Amino acid sequence: MLLDWKMKITQMPVYLQVNNTRSEDSASAELQIGTALPFPGGRSCDDYLFYKFASMLALVLALFPFVLPVKQVLAQSVAFAIEEIAPGNYVHYGSYADRSPQNFGDNANVGFIVGDTCVLVFDSGGSFAVGQALRNAIRSVTDKPVCYVVISHVHPDHFFGTAAFLAEEPEIIGHENLPLQLAARGRHYEMTLARDLGDASEGSRIVLPTKTLAAGTTMTVALGGRDVEIRAWAPAHTDNDLSVIDLSTSTLWLGDLLFVDHTPILDSNITGFLAVMKELRELHIRHYIPGHGRSDLPWPQVMDPQQRYFELILTETRQAIRDNVRLMDAVNQIGYSQAQNWVNFETYHRRNVTTAYTELEWE
Ligand SMILES: [Zn+2]
Repeated sequence: MLLDWKMKITQMPVYLQVNNTRSEDSASAELQIGTALPFPGGRSCDDYLFYKFASMLALVLALFPFVLPVKQVLAQSVAFAIEEIAPGNYVHYGSYADRSPQNFGDNANVGFIVGDTCVLVFDSGGSFAVGQALRNAIRSVTDKPVCYVVISHVHPDHFFGTAAFLAEEPEIIGHENLPLQLAARGRHYEMTLARDLGDASEGSRIVLPTKTLAAGTTMTVALGGRDVEIRAWAPAHTDNDLSVIDLSTSTLWLGDLLFVDHTPILDSNITGFLAVMKELRELHIRHYIPGHGRSDLPWPQVMDPQQRYFELILTETRQAIRDNVRLMDAVNQIGYSQAQNWVNFETYHRRNVTTAYTELEWE
């Protein structure tokens, strides 16, 4: 798959890496490889022709077996496909499968917004390799620098690719609670990523935000001919959720404030999540990108299934607490009428009920 290619590419000599970044034109490649072959002065014309021929042969041998397939794979691969969901807004839809060495932790939706002067990245993916693939996808569209990387929240499928962008020295933007959560969870996240991906986790590491936003505030950044509003939310999916709106196309990047098909995940506050969803519904937007799942359904009706799911958990958990049902029993009783509606239900549902129960028992 593509990411296998990616790993091979990153281990190739520098001149092939150059081809894999923006300098994809053959002229720069010829220069790189041509200069690698010495051409001693004072040789005869035959020698000159020989060296020129050898240089061209080296160029052909070096480029054709690798670069052309790589470029084709980059352009055509389903494994790291990007879609322009609104003008200048490109999304890569992550996989529902558990993270593994085969998928490099490519589980969350990630993407970027291209302005006249620079690019904003929304989430960097679940590993350094995914971040690299995203960066290459950006380079297939524009040579503008990445000036912002927005980390939607603390979950590792959304941020472990950030190191792939550091060479461009972007501002890295997170919620004010993100640094604290990374400090609390980061070591565990690094260990479990290494456990699940093995060598495929290479290069993945925690990168702290360089700029943070307080809950309830917004910040507008200019990408050149295009302003983008970043909003920090009160506790909902996590206590450090950010969303982004590209104001010129009314495109809302939700992170995990919206799940489509993939079981919604509750890692903070169920009443808060429902309140945030109510606010989100009132936004007049034309396009949206969920944190998981596709953007095919109309807005805001696409939020209905997630809202029904959390409302059911809320109602049934409150009832269970009133009936003195213990948590260990409640997790096996609450919300199961929703099981057939969601992918990965068995993996996440009990944890959601646990989070809701421990919040609601103090009401
Ligand atoms: Zn999440």
